[in-house]
Amino acid sequence: MAVSTCIKCGNHTFEMVEVSPQESKFKLNFIQCVSCGGVVGVQDFYNIGNFVKNIADKLGIS
Ligand SMILES: [Zn+2]
Repeated sequence: MAVSTCIKCGNHTFEMVEVSPQESKFKLNFIQCVSCGGVVGVQDFYNIGNFVKNIADKLGIS
C-alpha cells in the first residue's frame, strides 16, 4: 500500500485541525501535515454519518 505523503515537505504524518476560515459561516476540519501545516484535505466539522444515525435513533428507524 502506498504511503500518504505531503506534497510540500515529504512528511508522512497528518493531523485534523478545527478551523473557522474568514468569511465562512461554518467551522471545518482541515487535514494537514503535522510538520509544515500543508492542507491536504477538508471535511465538514460535523460527521454527517454520525449526525444522520443520531437522528435515525431518535426517530426509531435505525
Ligand atoms: Zn508537509
